[in-house]
Amino acid sequence: MKGMFEIISKNKNSRVGVIKLKNGEVNTPFFMPDATRGFVRSIDNEILEEIGLEAILINTYHLFLNPGMEIIKQAGDAHNFMNWSRPLLSDSGGYQVFSLIHKNPKLGKIADNEVIFRSPTDGSKHILTPEIAIQIQFDLGVDMMVCLDDPPPNDYPKEKIAQAVERTIRWAGRCKKEYQKQIEKRKISEADRPLIFGVIQGGEYLDLRKHCTEELVKIGFDGYGFGARHIDAQGNFMEEVVRETANFIPENSLRFALGVGTPEDIVKCYSFGWDMFDCVIPTREGRHGRLFLRNSVETQNFASLQDGKFYETININNGKYKNDFSRVDENCDCMLCKNHTKAYLHHLFASKEMLGMRLAAIHNLKFYADLLRGLRG
Ligand SMILES: [Zn+2]
Repeated sequence: MKGMFEIISKNKNSRVGVIKLKNGEVNTPFFMPDATRGFVRSIDNEILEEIGLEAILINTYHLFLNPGMEIIKQAGDAHNFMNWSRPLLSDSGGYQVFSLIHKNPKLGKIADNEVIFRSPTDGSKHILTPEIAIQIQFDLGVDMMVCLDDPPPNDYPKEKIAQAVERTIRWAGRCKKEYQKQIEKRKISEADRPLIFGVIQGGEYLDLRKHCTEELVKIGFDGYGFGARHIDAQGNFMEEVVRETANFIPENSLRFALGVGTPEDIVKCYSFGWDMFDCVIPTREGRHGRLFLRNSVETQNFASLQDGKFYETININNGKYKNDFSRVDENCDCMLCKNHTKAYLHHLFASKEMLGMRLAAIHNLKFYADLLRGLRG
């Protein structure tokens, strides 16, 4: 377990390091774009590499349903299928399956031993257990995998969140056991083994988050994720819980802030000691015409990031950009900013041209990649 994550430098709680994985090294802190269904919408892998994104996230639940594991196995694994040679992280699919059932209880049943659910697209019935979630992730051939957990909605009463914590801990134990079984069965060497992450639940309750972390640490994982949303039921960033939970996690373990987030939330989480982030925001917002712009080249300077005023957003659909022939972001060297004006991007969006959405998503991903590069110093 040791030696795969190395901390190179520290500044108060935040740290800069490197993870050595089967398919290459990833410098921390890092941001992963969400390729939940095996692709980052409209953006090919060459561009992702060019932007400087060192790892991407895929989703067990989505790939399991479509195209299905038979196709992925025929391709070899997810790396081969997607033709992505750098590190991959798969999340367990727990969040998707549980959200599906919480929203529509007719679509499934959560029991202590397993989750039974129906595909929302074709109604087919599936069973997910902690063991199956781990087996699938081995079949995907990922570099980093995540235990199946029980993510409760943030507005659940404490008692129900506590029950989800207990199930999460029990399932983490089963996942770890299955993980060790698969390592032996597949004869995977220490150098090639994927890292495995436990997920910390507990909603907005610090005592539950602490208890969950302590129990997961007893089982022993390479890293620990902050499970469920980092935003409370009122929509506020749960600063204290996110900060303190990082402190509960042993220093030499990776800390994964799942689903985080906005640029300012990433900067905050990094200062609390979180190392890994993933979010749909840059690509989804880009497709809707919302672009993240650096306020100055000083974005690279961490001191100026603290106040959260290091960027602004514009909506390129706004009519005022119709004849704005300035560059989208003077301080960005992505293919959009190097080659085109705001007026042209506005025209692409007004024409509902896919190229516009694609260029905007590329720009936003470059913004995120540069932000993380800036944090690494
Ligand atoms: Zn740009």
